[in-house]
Order: sequence, then structure tokens, then C-alpha cells
Amino acid sequence: MKQKITILGSTGSIGKNTLDVVARHPDRYEVFALSAATQVDLMLEQCAQFKPRFAVMASAPHAQLLAEKIKQNGLQTSVLQAQGALEIIASHEEVDAVMAAIVGAAGLSPCLAAARAGKRLLLANKEALVVGGNVFMRAVREGGATLLPIDSEHSAIFQCLPEDPACWAERVDSILLTASGGPFRTRAPETLAQITPEQACAHPNFSMGRKISVDSATMMNKALEVIEARWLFDLAPEQIKVVIHPQQIIHSMVQFKDASILAQLGTPDMRVPIACGLAWPERIESGASRLDFAALAALTFEEADVRRFPGLHLSWQALNAPEGTTAVLNAANEVAVDAFLTGKLRFDHIHAVNLATLDAVQPSKPDSLESLLALDATARVAAQRAAAALAL
Ligand code: NAD
Ligand code: MG
Repeated sequence: MKQKITILGSTGSIGKNTLDVVARHPDRYEVFALSAATQVDLMLEQCAQFKPRFAVMASAPHAQLLAEKIKQNGLQTSVLQAQGALEIIASHEEVDAVMAAIVGAAGLSPCLAAARAGKRLLLANKEALVVGGNVFMRAVREGGATLLPIDSEHSAIFQCLPEDPACWAERVDSILLTASGGPFRTRAPETLAQITPEQACAHPNFSMGRKISVDSATMMNKALEVIEARWLFDLAPEQIKVVIHPQQIIHSMVQFKDASILAQLGTPDMRVPIACGLAWPERIESGASRLDFAALAALTFEEADVRRFPGLHLSWQALNAPEGTTAVLNAANEVAVDAFLTGKLRFDHIHAVNLATLDAVQPSKPDSLESLLALDATARVAAQRAAAALAL
């Protein structure tokens, strides 16, 4: 029996890589549903190639346009326009696996729907877990879902850990998340103010969406990943460490109680963690090239410089603060990155907006999707105010 897959965010970098892996295995997988925000023409191409039952666009005008084009091209895909369409395709009874590859807190609600419906949930959308925290993990447990990390660091850790999560607490000392350091690893901290969106989006090793590219440049991506790791692997914040490794060959490591360390290695290609999550515990061809050790000059490591990357430490700070603080941090960062990408905020002021928002919003413990969304909205208003005060 083929596995039926829903891909949330199919027109993005992770979505396209997922379809690339799926296309290599027509005997194992079929696409049940696709979703995107605005890219109608690419969605049409994907519908023509993968023939999903459903397609969802984020707004009614885009959905209408897609529906017309699907009809003109004689395709059978139904364009769902209902309120809650993402939740429907994430939890539909025929779906086996859901790739969560929407960017930002916008992906939280369909992730929760997939978790509650007990799906195999392939999580690229780290912001959903950073916002959802306890509520997200409770939905996974109660729904009987299988949560598999797609973020390359967390996939690496998952692959290094014992298969039975019941052993993790007694065997694991700490985890080491590797970080590339992004495009400004060696840039003079006093020149950060002049960085443009184009410079920030030029990542040395990966082609990614614009939001995660900026997060990589500020290292807020790693901050979000520390929080993501806390929930995925049920670790204390102090058990999670970050080390800069510019070559991105080691994707992360687990240190055990006896000081032994296991690392997962490979070429930096997101199709590897995607294939791993799709097939786990089996292994399938991903399309990634094999690592050529003879061609590797060196693997190097260094500590993250707090003057260049002041945001990195907000993760531990937020994890040690009252529950909900990580949701506030995520909302602030989404607003600040958007302001930077649209030319309204200086690069080095992203951190200032995050700090000001954390100061302004004291969360009450969120215990439901509704309370998380309300907290997210409150934090966005505070972040917008902070960004406006610093606007260019
Ligand atoms: P992207 O910007 O390339 O793609 C985002 C996708 O989500 C697109 O299909 C877009 O149409 C859709 N989308 C955006 N906003 C939406 C909304 N409001 N409602 C519905 N759909 C919406 O981003 P990406 O680089 O593919 O990253 C996706 C997620 O995966 C992010 O959370 C990112 O942190 C994570 N991730 C990405 C990479 C990578 O290499 N790109 C690696 C690890 C983790
Ligand atoms: Mg990552």
C-alpha cells in the first residue's frame, strides 16, 4: 500500500525538496494534498505532476485563480477554500503522513490537527513547536502521532539517539547542535547595521526561504532550534549546547553519560533528513550526493561570538522564563524579520525588537491553541510597536 502524503507549504524550499524525494519513489508514496500561500503557477505545475486530490491556497483570490487554471488544464484536483482547509488536509482519515513545511506560527494549527489525528508528522516548521511547546507535545501524545524531526540538526540527534525514547533520560548527558554561523560569522560586529536583505539571504551552504535565511544570519535560527530540541527530546535547557561548524558536514551530536559522542554526518542537503523522516526506520534513496572524505579539507569548530549573535542566548533565557515566553520570542522575531526584509528595520535592530517585546509581554501559561494564538497576537502588536519606534 502506498503512503498518502499531505505537504503543507509545498512551494517552499522544504516543500520542493520533499516532492523531489517523493518523485523518486512512486512505488512508496502518493501525494494526497498540497498547500501554498501565493504561488499559483508553481502550485499548478505541482498539481499537474503529482495529481493530488486536494490543493489549498492561503487566500480566496489565489484559490479562485488556481481553481480556474486547474479547470483550464483538465486536472482533477479539488481546490479547497473552506475555513480550516489546512486542518482538513492535515487530519484527513486517508492521510498517512504530513510534511509540515509552512514557515512561522501560521503552521501551528494544521500541525496540531495532524498530531491530534495521530499522523506521522514530519516537522520542518520549527516555529510551530517553539510557539506550541507543551500544548503541541500533549497533542502528539494524546493523538498517538509519530513526530519525526526534519530540521537537519534534530534529525541528526534523532538518528544518534537510542530507538527507545524511554532510555534517553538515563543515557544522554547533553546534545550539541551544530551551526554554520551564517554569512556574517566573521563580519565585524560594528558593521552589522549596514547589512541588506540580499546579503542576509545569501547563505553559504543552503538555498532556503527568506525568513530562515535571515534567522541563520542572526543565529536566531539556532535559538529557535534550541527551543525545538528542548521539546522534541525532553531535555533541560542546560543540556543543549551550540557549536559553530562552518562546513555543515556534522549535522549535530549527542553526548552520552560516559562522555562518548555520536555524530551524524553527510553532505548538507535537506533531502537527507526528508528521506529519513519519510521512510523511518527504513532508509531510501534521497538524491543527495555521497560525502567524499578525501575531498574534505578540514572540519572546524568554534564558539559563537555573543557580540555578533546576541539573539542566540534568548533561547535559554526564554526556556527558563514562564511558559509562553518562547511564543512571545517567536512572534517578535517574525515581526522583526519581516520588517527587516521589507526595508523598515536595520539588521541589528531585529535583536532590539525581540528584547523589547520580551520586556513588554508577560505571558500567562497558555494551555490551548486559542490561548497560544491570542498570546501570539498580543506579542505581534508589542513587536510592531517596538519596530515602529526603531523604523528606518
Ligand atoms: P519557504 O519560505 O521557502 O516556504 C514556505 C512555504 O510555506 C511556502 O510554500 C509558502 O507558500 C507557505 N506559506 C508561507 N506562509 C504561509 C501562510 N501564512 N499560510 C499558509 N502557507 C504559507 O520556507 P522554507 O525554507 O521551506 O522553510 C519552511 C519551514 O521549514 C520553516 O519553518 C523553516 O524554519 C523550516 N526549515 C527549513 C529549512 C530549509 O533548508 N529551507 C531547514 C530546516 C528547517
Ligand atoms: Mg536547522
